[in-house]
Amino acid sequence: MTTLADHVPGGRPGDVERATALSGELSGRGVHGIVLAYVDTAGIGRVKAIPTARLASAAAWGVGMSPVFDTFLANDTIVATDVLGSPDGDLRLYPDLDQLVVLAGQPGWAWAPVDRITQEGEPHPACGRTVLRRIVTEAAERHGVTFKAAVEIEWAVGRGDAPDGAFVPAVSGPAYGATRQVELSDCVADLLAALAAQGVDVDQVHPEYAAGQFEISVGALDPVAAADRSVLVRQTIRAVTRRHGLKVSFAPAVFARGVGNGGHIHLSAWRDGVNLHTGGDRRYGMTSAAESFAAGVLAHLPGLMAVTAPSPASCLRLKPSQWAGVFTAWGRETREAALRVITGTAGVREHAANLEVKPVDLAANPYVALACLIAAGLDGLVSEASLPEETTGDPARLDAAQAAARGVHRLPTSLERAVEEFRGDERLRAALGPVLADAVIAVRRGELAAVAGMDDEQVAAAYRWAY
Ligand code: GLU
Ligand code: MG
Repeated sequence: MTTLADHVPGGRPGDVERATALSGELSGRGVHGIVLAYVDTAGIGRVKAIPTARLASAAAWGVGMSPVFDTFLANDTIVATDVLGSPDGDLRLYPDLDQLVVLAGQPGWAWAPVDRITQEGEPHPACGRTVLRRIVTEAAERHGVTFKAAVEIEWAVGRGDAPDGAFVPAVSGPAYGATRQVELSDCVADLLAALAAQGVDVDQVHPEYAAGQFEISVGALDPVAAADRSVLVRQTIRAVTRRHGLKVSFAPAVFARGVGNGGHIHLSAWRDGVNLHTGGDRRYGMTSAAESFAAGVLAHLPGLMAVTAPSPASCLRLKPSQWAGVFTAWGRETREAALRVITGTAGVREHAANLEVKPVDLAANPYVALACLIAAGLDGLVSEASLPEETTGDPARLDAAQAAARGVHRLPTSLERAVEEFRGDERLRAALGPVLADAVIAVRRGELAAVAGMDDEQVAAAYRWAY
């Protein structure tokens, strides 16, 4: 469970004592350094690191880092908003001790996600992790609703000796193929061992569809912890795979053609410990609250794309009939609809029923994406929105009249369009607050300018190894 209180200069009550004890324990376990991790607006994981002995100091006073990274692009150039992008200023990174883990794939290292606060002790308005925590807290206080979430992770494994930026798949067997599983046997076994040692409960791991592609699904947690986990799992996949001499890409589109890497988000709303997605009187056992929540997400999907599929490479993945969910549609276990209503199997529905959001990839900042998804769902909840007719099969096959009757539209086919939708979506912008919302818009526009004139293959290559 994520601690909800903000960090304060000097440390929250008990944090410094806890960090002191923890650093002694970690040193005894051969941990020399601690990676302090966050994700920037462009979806790039950024880090600082401290020697283990500095943990108590970091818990009290944080570790300095420039706020300029809020407007970094994936290629490390910098854009600006009215308040961000300047070389001035400093932020303090505060490790979340509840989420600190010893990295099994990187001997000698531990890892912790951070919140960022100002030197005056205020939450930094562009800290996506803090924004998500606020939204989760408000949902509990105002609506009595809590959430569980999980981010699915797809990645492509490439040969470490491929020339200059090229991707050469490290395995050659078919999708879901036994051959491919054997080819990467040692590496995936090491990955499972590392994740188990780090306390990550894995549901399943398998070879996926695209060249060299694999997928892992992990257990659901509260939204902040789920976002942390998605960052940690990627760090672990990268580290373990590298020890086998291979490279990984989490990019939405490793190549311009074919199936990409998704980062589908599973989300469920709960009240008083009861899952709202089952046991109700609406379709497939949804309660009215769960239906309204899903309807809210569906209604805001066009604007959500600016935070769930935020890279110029994202649009290369978002093609019909590739299970990326590119239509505003929902359906039970429909893998082509943007929203897949998952009832779970009879017998486990109280735990398993949830909503899967498909047009999400791993260029997304998971904190920001979850914050906006929850805000969108709550908007539906408050307005008691209803879902339209269900879509079964591939929405690409609906004729115009059928699509109109169900409100099925193609989601934005360009990042430019998604940014315009986001700009026009006051609810989403308000959820992030003006500083972060402006950063999202500025960074997306910066990314678009960075790829101006490139063809699709060049765009895929530009982001292939960024994520
Ligand atoms: N690779 C697909 C995507 O781009 C997802 C496949 C699946 O449903 O697991 O989202
Ligand atoms: Mg998959």
